[in-house]
Amino acid sequence: MKKNKRLSINLSTIGENGRSIQGRLPSSIFEIKSLNYLECSRPIDYNLDISIVTHSVLIKGRVKTLIKRQCDRCLTMCDCTIENIRVCHYIPVTDEKIIDFTDQLREDILITFPQRFICAESCLGLCEYCGEDLNSDVCKCTRKNESDNIWDKLNELKL
Ligand SMILES: [Zn+2]
Ligand SMILES: [Zn+2]
Repeated sequence: MKKNKRLSINLSTIGENGRSIQGRLPSSIFEIKSLNYLECSRPIDYNLDISIVTHSVLIKGRVKTLIKRQCDRCLTMCDCTIENIRVCHYIPVTDEKIIDFTDQLREDILITFPQRFICAESCLGLCEYCGEDLNSDVCKCTRKNESDNIWDKLNELKL
């Protein structure tokens, strides 16, 4: 990975009152290939306050991005905003003048990925019989009705 695609700060540029940095990191820091249910191709915006507190670098702020995630009900890929507004790291200062905290920010984003996701509260999902997306089309299959009437049919048998 190229060095310029990472986020680091030179400690000598942090004044007594700390320093604020804003910017974007490329989606390549995720190191996640696009999957059929997840796509992380947008950059990550960060907004951080950095200060030096008793031999540690204190990094606080927020990170935000937009991913595409498959809806658990209808299986459509939908935009999903991912934001962590509680970024907080203490990194001990060693002899290094430059601190790289790309990995910490990647973790901050990854932990906010939703385990479950639906495109909308009202998502109707797929027909369990024919697989039709019920949000865009009315299901035309008849098996549904058949199964609803299964008891009627058993009754008709008059065993
Ligand atoms: Zn859906
Ligand atoms: Zn159907």
